[in-house]
Parts: sequence; structure tokens; C-alpha cells
Amino acid sequence: MKRAAAVLLCLALLLLPGCAPRARTSTVYAMDTVMELTAYGDRALVDEAVTLIHDLEEHLSVTAAGSDIARVNAEGHADVDPGTARLISRALDLCKLTDGVLDITVYPVVRAWGFTTGKYRVPEEAEIGSLLEKVDYTAVTVHGERVTLPQGAMLDLGAVAKGWTGDRIASLWREAGLKSGLVNLGGSVQAIGGKPDGGAWRVGIRDPFSEEVLGAVSVRDMAVVTSGGYQRYFEENGVRYCHIIDPAAGRPADSGLASVTVIGPEGVVCDGLSTAVYVMGLERAEKLWRENQGFDLVLVTDSGEVFITDGIEDSFTPMGDYEDTEIQVIRRG
Ligand code: AMP
Ligand code: MG
Repeated sequence: MKRAAAVLLCLALLLLPGCAPRARTSTVYAMDTVMELTAYGDRALVDEAVTLIHDLEEHLSVTAAGSDIARVNAEGHADVDPGTARLISRALDLCKLTDGVLDITVYPVVRAWGFTTGKYRVPEEAEIGSLLEKVDYTAVTVHGERVTLPQGAMLDLGAVAKGWTGDRIASLWREAGLKSGLVNLGGSVQAIGGKPDGGAWRVGIRDPFSEEVLGAVSVRDMAVVTSGGYQRYFEENGVRYCHIIDPAAGRPADSGLASVTVIGPEGVVCDGLSTAVYVMGLERAEKLWRENQGFDLVLVTDSGEVFITDGIEDSFTPMGDYEDTEIQVIRRG
């Protein structure tokens, strides 16, 4: 009898919320942003993820001397970490998918505008024109671990690195058996499983016009990645110049979109597409979405209109100032 009572007590304790795995968290400053990691499991998993973030930053940074990317850029070719080679190949596929609106060789132009160095300036048309001659992702080759660029070209993985990092952390944690975790790499979120109580994660999407959120999307095992002009920009003579460059013009994107969120299973895809869709604008974004499967969009226009694609119609909830805004749903039709 006593034994039965003890078994019952143990069962009851197991069902108490206190018996659920504890939240292990860490805040890291890396890749120019604040990163927040939460795993409902072993502390060691969070520590391993922090080590992975620093390791990836060392390989992928365009500014840190000795990184894979800096070596490729300095010499025009280099043998890189196998993971870096894989990321470059994935990024090149996304450049192709977006018809070069995403272009990982746009770095000479990004640098001329002062992004990545912080020495902001508006370059002359002639300078932009000659830099654009070096921009062409189709000329990049990856053979095994050897990456080669044409003369004068330079790579920048800034548009995909955080999404890729989220994917790598998610794989690390899933392979270790983690059932519940959330990684926020400064606007690039990865949900691992659902919440510890079994519900979906609710990921907030920032209002591009304030510090508030405009809504939340409920997800499990998904990436939610946002690109927006508000994330990094400078102003000169009353004009705002953002860090996302339209490779066709060599100038900061000005497509009528204030922010773009892409939701899908892979962070690297969501990250690449969020940057590209920000450049494309609403109409081309709709076309890209109709012609491809596997991701959804939340688009906010400069005038504050909100568009979502129909895959997230039931999982997106507007919040705050946006509760009374009409959310326009883009359908495959
Ligand atoms: P994200 O924050 O993911 O939208 O990426 C923006 C970063 O990607 C910028 O800070 C640049 O380093 C780089 N970038 C800007 N424009 C482009 C572009 N059209 N294609 C690829 N990378 C870009
Ligand atoms: Mg991106």
C-alpha cells in the first residue's frame, strides 16, 4: 500500500510544472547583434550553441581578418571550412532563385556606402557604376572546399549568415534530443519544437515604425526572419539610406516595403528571401511566392498596410496598433 502511494506521489510530481525541463538561457553579442538562446534541457546545449555561434562568426565575418570570407576576398580564391562552402552554395542557389536580387557579391557597393565600416557616405554615380561591374554572383565557383571569385569581386554573407546560424543551432539541439527551444539572433528567430507546455511558440514581429510588435505568428519547428530598412540606416540631407542594396541600381532598396518577414522550415532560405523580397517590393514578392512553395510572408508597406500569404492566415495575430488594421491576405488562387 505504502509502495502504491509512493508511486502515485512520484507520478504526481512528474506531472507538476516544476518537473518540466528548466529554461537554460544565454545572451550573446555576435554578428553585430544581440542573440538570445533558450533551451528547455541541458545547460551544456546552450554552451555548445554559444561556441558554435563564435565559431561561425570567425569563419563567415567579412570584416575579421583571417575569416574564410576575408581570405577569399583578399586572394580571389581560398580553401574554406566545408560548412562555409556549403553555405556559399546554398546562398548562390537563392541568388539564382531571386534572379540576382539577392547577390552575395554586392559587397563592394555595400562597403562604398559605408555599411559594415560605419563610415557612411553617398557615393557618386560613376563610382557606383564601376563597382557594379564587379557584382555578379554567377561568376563565383565552389568546387569542394575551394571558392574562387573573378578579379575584383568580393563576397558578403551578411544576408544569410544569421539564418544559417539558426539552422545549425537547431540541428545541434534536435540531434541532442531537445524538444523545446527558441533562438533569436537579432531578427532571425528559430523555433525548435513547440513550447515546453506543448503549445506553439508565438514569435513577435516588430512594427517597422515603432519599438512595438505589429503581431505574432504561432509556429513549431520553423524559422521566422525579418529584414527591414529600420534595422540599419543613415540619413543625409533628410534622405534615409538603408543597409539593403538593390544590386540593379547599386543604391539602397526603396521598393515601398518597410519590412519583410519570411516564415519557413529553413533559416537560411528565410534569411536570403527576406533580404531579397525587401528589395523586390510587393508585386514581385507576390510573384515569387506564387511560383515557389515552402514559405510564407508578412509584408508591411511604407504606408503601414499589412499583407500576409494564406499559409499563415490562421497562425498570424495582429497586435497593438495593428489590431484594427485590415490584414490583406495574398492567396494562391
Ligand atoms: P539582412 O539583414 O538579412 O536583410 O541582410 C542585410 C545585409 O546583407 C547587409 O547588411 C549587407 O551586408 C548584405 N546585403 C545588402 N544588400 C544585399 C543584397 N541585395 N544581396 C545580398 N546581400 C546584401
Ligand atoms: Mg537576410
